[in-house]
Order: sequence, then C-alpha cells, then structure tokens
Amino acid sequence: DLTAPLAVAIDGRDLPASAGLPRASGLSDDLFASDGQITRRPVRALTLSALAPRPGERLWDIGAGSGSISVEWCLAGGTAIAIEARPDRAANIRANAAAFGIEHRLTVIEGTAPAALAPLPTPDAVFVGGGGDAALHAHLWDTLPPGTRLVANGVTLETESTLAACHAAHGGHLLRIDLAEATPLGRFHGWTAARPVVQWSVTR
Ligand code: SAH
Repeated sequence: DLTAPLAVAIDGRDLPASAGLPRASGLSDDLFASDGQITRRPVRALTLSALAPRPGERLWDIGAGSGSISVEWCLAGGTAIAIEARPDRAANIRANAAAFGIEHRLTVIEGTAPAALAPLPTPDAVFVGGGGDAALHAHLWDTLPPGTRLVANGVTLETESTLAACHAAHGGHLLRIDLAEATPLGRFHGWTAARPVVQWSVTR
C-alpha cells in the first residue's frame, strides 16, 4: 500500500516516519547548537545544493560557526574539516557532531584561515562562510587543485564586492538569495525581508 505512511523502528520501538531525520538538506535551525550565528535553513539548503556533496568527498568549511554546513555535508556521506576561529563556536561544532552521531566524519580545527589550512589534506569542495576577504580568496585560488568546487556566501557589502570581483576574474555563478517571511502585522501579515545573501560558486 503505497499510500500508507512509512513506519520506522528505532531501538525496537515503532515510531511514525516523521520521527526520523529528514533526508534532504536544510534541516531545522533548532536541531543545531548555536549562538545565533548559523546559516539559516533555506540558505543552507541552497548552499548544500551548490556544494553538491557525493559520498566519500572531503569538505573544508571555512568559518564554520555552528558547523551546520559540515554536519549536513557529512550526513550526505562525506567527511568535513570545520575551521573556526572562536573557541566557543568550535565547542558548538563538536557538540553538533556528537548529537548527529558523525564525530568520526567531522574534524574541528580551532584556528584562523588561511594559516590553519596549510597542514590540511586537500578538499573536493570548499565552503567559505566567514573570513572570506580578498586575501583568502586569492590564497584559495592559488592553492586549490583544479576541479575543486568552491562556494562562498556573503552578507556584507564588503564581502559582496569581493565576491563580485572574484566572479569577474574567475567566472562561475553569482546568486543573490533574497528571502522574506510572513510575520504578523497588526491583525494581518506582512513580509519581513531577510538581509540578501550573495553566493559565488565556481569550479577551480
Ligand atoms: N555557516 C555557519 C555560520 C558562519 S558565521 C553556520 O551555519 O553555523 C562565520 C564564522 O566565521 C564565525 O563563527 C567567525 O568566527 C568565523 N570566522 C571569521 N573569519 C575567520 C577566519 N579567518 N578563520 C576561521 N574562522 C573565521
């Protein structure tokens, strides 16, 4: 009966299928320990789509914050190295890796890019969610092997102009993610706009 809802058994208990973890990227923000610095669900889903994980591939997640991008990459079957400058956020990344049962796939490096990148094994894909200034992008372009997929998100005007310059120099795709959510407006609702996120994605 294809219309019957699927059931899942966890620890010998029968649970409704809705009790399991969704298979698509863009999990609820509430599933991640964070201090509020987290790539929000819809933008995270678009980011994972651009990163295009395949089983067995390695991600560098530069400026990993809560590690939400790394976690979703690992859930897709890869391994990730999360580079985060702030110790309190690195602790969140470790907690999230443990909560999702992927500690064996996610390595946390507490340090600052680009210096912290030097000893790392080469990646198949790189996400830049923080620290993505012109110097970091120049370093990545010079050192990443051809074929590496690179995705960078920016919310500030300064990062946006850096990403526009990278796009002009190297090509790829520049996407502006302009989202709004309905929120109460008196007895009715109105659109509350999120800050636009500019996303540059390119293959080295
Ligand atoms: N994608 C993350 C949010 C990133 S917020 C998530 O979903 O949770 C950007 C992060 O980059 C911040 O935590 C900041 O501490 C970190 N950061 C900024 N510059 C950095 C650098 N040069 N090296 C490492 N981390 C950096």
